[in-house]
Amino acid sequence: MSNVEADPAELVCGDRPAAARTVTVLTPRDVPLGGPRAIRVRRTLPQRQRSLIGAWCFADHYGPEDVTATGGMDVAPHPHTGLQTASWLFSGEIEHRDSLGTHALVRPGELNLMTGGHGIAHSEVSTPDTTTLHGVQLWIALPDEHRHTARDFRHHAPPVVELPGAAVRVFLGSLAGSTSPVPAFTPLLGAELTLDPGARVVLDVDPAFEHGVLQDLGGVTVAGTKLGNGDLAYLAPGAAELELVNDGSGPARVLLLGGTPFAEEIVMWWNFVGRSHEEIAAYREAWQAESEQFGRVEGYRGAVSRLPAPELPHARIKARRNPPAPA
Ligand code: MN
Repeated sequence: MSNVEADPAELVCGDRPAAARTVTVLTPRDVPLGGPRAIRVRRTLPQRQRSLIGAWCFADHYGPEDVTATGGMDVAPHPHTGLQTASWLFSGEIEHRDSLGTHALVRPGELNLMTGGHGIAHSEVSTPDTTTLHGVQLWIALPDEHRHTARDFRHHAPPVVELPGAAVRVFLGSLAGSTSPVPAFTPLLGAELTLDPGARVVLDVDPAFEHGVLQDLGGVTVAGTKLGNGDLAYLAPGAAELELVNDGSGPARVLLLGGTPFAEEIVMWWNFVGRSHEEIAAYREAWQAESEQFGRVEGYRGAVSRLPAPELPHARIKARRNPPAPA
């Protein structure tokens, strides 16, 4: 997925029930994805209030959208640096092509993790058979020592772990006795949880991790705070348990993201993660010059062969760092 907007921001604080753990609710803002067949996404990371949760630095949530009328997703080849993209679908199918030569279909319940590292290019197009498109696109910032690593692409279809009241798919890290074989560059957790109506689930989590709960289906209550569609609940490190309650009459679904707080300042602009304005400017120039830093995507057939980078802002791009975690 490609970021097509500049940098507006919005913030809302969540309820703070006296007896519960502090939960900060990051509300989504609507962003058009752009391209000839634009779909809208709900973006919860980054925002002014919070840039990262662990190394998770970008979260777009979209659908369920009937794309038989709109045509769905069509994102022409575009570059990435210094990050990994994690694609996770609830329904629909996306055709992925990248400059490693990967040609893969992204399907519901299957992780597709692309490592941009030093530089990669990719395209994403929903398939003609897709009627309902529904999923997330997440980015993971790479730590300084690994951010220039070689391009990579991993696919993993995690098994479903059945807990009393919930079904869990762990696509990165470990939860509920299930561990993803996909390696990460910093301690991370990524999992989908579907809760039965009326279910209360208490998960053992790593107290060194901060966590995010992205509300997809229904309305889950996280540590006492009820979430609306597309909300991302933030929980600071320090707790060994995380409670999810589905008090609705139908199933509920969330994504649970986690990781140790990412200590480095990063500079994010368009589809690049770097450490300085100068570095970002050099990435942009390299993409515009069709540098081998990003390689070529073969087989993409769209209206444009590649997405041009927007103009750099006149002001220096500000580094992003999280505020201190709330108590
Ligand atoms: Mn992308």
